[in-house]
Amino acid sequence: MQTGSAKVLVVEDEVSIRKFIAVNLYRNDFEVLEAGDGETALEMVKSFLPDVVVLDVMLPSMDGFEVCIQIRRLMPQIVIIMLTARGEDMDKIMGLELGADDYMVKPFNPLELIARIRAHLRKMPDYSSAKANCLFFQQLMLDPEGQRFYKNGREIELTPTEFAMMKVFLSNPKKAFSRNEIMNSVWGQDYFGDLKTVDVHIRRIREKLEEDPSAPRWIETVWGVGYRLKGGGEHL
Ligand code: CA
Repeated sequence: MQTGSAKVLVVEDEVSIRKFIAVNLYRNDFEVLEAGDGETALEMVKSFLPDVVVLDVMLPSMDGFEVCIQIRRLMPQIVIIMLTARGEDMDKIMGLELGADDYMVKPFNPLELIARIRAHLRKMPDYSSAKANCLFFQQLMLDPEGQRFYKNGREIELTPTEFAMMKVFLSNPKKAFSRNEIMNSVWGQDYFGDLKTVDVHIRRIREKLEEDPSAPRWIETVWGVGYRLKGGGEHL
């Protein structure tokens, strides 16, 4: 992929170190996000879908190990590089199968960190090459070229009709679409079908997408109108 355009989240409570890393990434054309604690980091992972997380082990309240496990659960495809100050952390990072991809011992040369980030990004061409055209909404990602749909980084298999409907929603998140609008977008203006067909497909999508299809948190019914993609999604 174009490694320079990748989005990197730097998680470190020591501001001077965090800024130092951020400035170096920024100078190398990365898009940079910053978090000072684990809770903020997890929120930012969900909202901004970074490609890479640079994660310090020593953080207030929730430590880097716990953050790493939770990011992995949420987004299996993110590259996670742990920063550690102490030798013994290395054993833990490598031994406990936290899911980190790499680690660096402080103090380190930022150029070395950048080289490693690039090396890891190069290993994941499938996911990132298509990304430029992808549509995102919170933990959802739709790849129109590859005709693939993901939730939390895991693929959900949709039929072509279901896929076309999700594309309508993700193209304009939070807009309430009438059944007519959905039908026209998916089947075309010339198609005259029963609007209940839309409901049938929505029900099938919910069965695949929702944790509890009877209490949908992703696709909301808008009474008297139709449907809309709902903000908020799922909690960890
Ligand atoms: Ca720290």
